[in-house]
Amino acid sequence: MLLQGKKALILGLANNKSIAYGIAHAFKEQGARLAFNYVGDAIKKRVEPLSEELGGEFTFQCDVTDDAQIQAAADLVKEKWGGVDILVHSVAFANREDLSGRFLDTSRAGFHLALDISAYSLTGICRAFEPLLHDGSSVLTMTYHGSTKVIPGYNIMGVAKAALEASVRYLSYDLGEKGVRVNALSAGPIKTLAASAVSGLKNIFTRVEEHAPLRRNVTTADVGGAAVFLASELSHGVTGEVIYVDSGFSQLGI
Ligand code: NAD
Repeated sequence: MLLQGKKALILGLANNKSIAYGIAHAFKEQGARLAFNYVGDAIKKRVEPLSEELGGEFTFQCDVTDDAQIQAAADLVKEKWGGVDILVHSVAFANREDLSGRFLDTSRAGFHLALDISAYSLTGICRAFEPLLHDGSSVLTMTYHGSTKVIPGYNIMGVAKAALEASVRYLSYDLGEKGVRVNALSAGPIKTLAASAVSGLKNIFTRVEEHAPLRRNVTTADVGGAAVFLASELSHGVTGEVIYVDSGFSQLGI
């Protein structure tokens, strides 16, 4: 029970295929207390039964593009829990038309939207939740290898993930002063709602199976296991890192 009694706030659960679901499941098995956000009524209807299944204590609306909603979430969590031990940011979005074709054709508005939701939101959330974080708290976000290498079709999301990973390093510096750690997990491709929008990911699953050192794709449970490590005291000395959970695919030079 590596997370016994720890209060874990999970942003980004959409359905039972979500990486956030795998993380929440692994956290629950290690004794964590859970709460989840949702965005809008359609996702609320899917999140509430999943929260119940996972023993979540409460759910709340929080669209990360809206500072007022982020602050309201922080106020609610303060009232319910007083503090947060683990904060998971598993949120990303880009317009579908910006996830195929040429990166060169990304519009200014599409760029802003993807960077706002997928990168800036981590900083906005960390700032609003800073008073609830304490020595030993762990913040986790989700990234992908398209941040450092070209994955055709990943396009604007690769640029957003590069900004997200740099944000992890700067946030780890700012929050490290009070003992709060900030890390990212770089997951290999997993079939989720968000991934289905990325044209470039369609062929990559077989490539991973054929060529990755482990010869298989990763699962949300694999990501959940690494998330338990980063959320627990086992990783007390680890911050500002991007840890790959990708069957070793990113290590290939061919
Ligand atoms: P998902 O669709 O299950 O989760 C994405 C979540 O982002 C959803 O819950 C959605 O509601 C949320 N979201 C979108 N816009 C939002 C907004 N404005 N405010 C608040 N929440 C918002 O897909 P997923 O694959 O589990 O994605 C989770 C994270 O993992 C993302 O950051 C994604 O980029 C990252 N990731 C995914 C893969 C993959 O192959 N699936 C690989 C590496 C990293």
